[in-house]
Amino acid sequence: MRTEADKIQNFIDGQFIEPVGGKYLDNIEPATGKSYSQVADSDSRDVDLAVVAAEKAFVDWSCTPAAERSKILLRIADLIERDLEKFARAESIDTGKPLSLARTLDIPRAVANFRFFATAILHTESEAHITDNVAFNYTTRQPRGIAGLISPWNLPLYLLSWKIAPAIAVGNIAIAKPSELTPVTAYMLCEIAQEAGLPNGVLNVVHGTGPNVGAAITAHPKINTISFTGGTVTGRKVAEACAPLFKKVSLELGGKNPNIVFADADLEAAIAGSVRSSFANQGQICLCGSRVFVERSAYKDFVDRFTEKASKLKVGDPLDEKTEQGAIVNKTQLDKIKFYVDLAQEEGGKIALGGKAPKPINDRCRYGYFFPPTIITDLPVSCRTNREEIFGPVITITPFDNEEEVIGYANDTDYGLASSVWTQNLNRAHRVAEQIHTGTVWVNCWLVRDLRVPFGGMKASGVGREGGEEALRFFTEAKNICIAK
Ligand code: NAD
Repeated sequence: MRTEADKIQNFIDGQFIEPVGGKYLDNIEPATGKSYSQVADSDSRDVDLAVVAAEKAFVDWSCTPAAERSKILLRIADLIERDLEKFARAESIDTGKPLSLARTLDIPRAVANFRFFATAILHTESEAHITDNVAFNYTTRQPRGIAGLISPWNLPLYLLSWKIAPAIAVGNIAIAKPSELTPVTAYMLCEIAQEAGLPNGVLNVVHGTGPNVGAAITAHPKINTISFTGGTVTGRKVAEACAPLFKKVSLELGGKNPNIVFADADLEAAIAGSVRSSFANQGQICLCGSRVFVERSAYKDFVDRFTEKASKLKVGDPLDEKTEQGAIVNKTQLDKIKFYVDLAQEEGGKIALGGKAPKPINDRCRYGYFFPPTIITDLPVSCRTNREEIFGPVITITPFDNEEEVIGYANDTDYGLASSVWTQNLNRAHRVAEQIHTGTVWVNCWLVRDLRVPFGGMKASGVGREGGEEALRFFTEAKNICIAK
């Protein structure tokens, strides 16, 4: 199996094929800034081919018994696990994230996604309702047909498998479009799907840009279900394209997540947890807590110790085992980060740590896209730096005086994806969690996942929920059959 494929082709009807237009994009390694492979630059013609294959495959796959589908998905999970190290290395090269993170987070969670949905479909309950003496109702849940699955670059295999696994588990056909910036692990997944015996056409992957491939997927009348994860601006375009066609849509979008530390918290744990939630994957996780709020009586102590701990994170070559902070995904994202650090200073912020691109990491990474953990203090809560998603290793810290004030701060954003609350007061934990407008509230932890719980955002962070039962329902169509008694 290749891990650094020279040419990443589309996977349609069980075959790797050239894009119809014959064009390819350079695939840049973030740590070096150099092209290391080519990815298909497909267009609507490739999506059309995938739809033809999908329609054909749906006939049998939608009728394949759940136990059979389950077995194939479990095999996919086993094979990714067998090749975990190759996947982790490929993902580290493709995204710039530390190899250790790809090995311990992204790839194991992709394995878990396939296992979870492979077994979930064996344990679903059927619903029946007796209507007095009048009728007997029962509900069937049928696969919807062809699902368009569009994902971003930050956790490529993890997020794509979070969509592919439930979609095909319940009998749909997947047409997936990974981010054009990080296509390699999706390519490798197709090889695994072949080896696992997934019938041809059940999983199709069309590579290319958002405007060419993503838009063709959302506009295609035969793709009736769209699961999208990405930025809020793109999410709006997806919603606009899908609305007139009455597609079922799930949108997992951006975040500007509050991380609230009360003075009664276990500060050691709160600091360690906050360093992780601020800077994991160079802050390029939609769930990162980019706005830290600390109760005033603990503020100075927290800032000093948090800054000290963050300053020790080792920025380095993602492939170096000791690296804790790898590269930013591309130059555009790096420029965006620099723009916000400048803006923060114009808005009155003080840089407590970082703020400037580091010296070259090593010879290999001389032209790579690196930025160190950056901490900004003294900003007003309502400034742009505190409201707009930066999606990098840049966080702000702000003091607060009481619960009511910090709940107001936390909710003072268009986003509503996730939040963290650090306190040892159980009543306060419940009270505050209830009042924060985010889809997930972590108390004394961060990024803990149970695949059964609903996952998604409020406000501009998205529409719909993924995970567990929610995903099984999203990818199926409920039908009620009412029989007169
Ligand atoms: P993006 O919106 O630029 O791209 C996401 C995907 O959409 C890519 O595959 C892209 O090619 C495609 N796309 C672009 N234009 C399109 C169009 N017009 N129609 C259809 N598809 C189109 O996002 P990104 O920069 O890849 O990822 C970062 C963003 O993703 C951040 O905002 C982050 O918060 C968000 N994100 C959210 C979650 C979540 O679960 N809520 C998870 C991870 C990332």
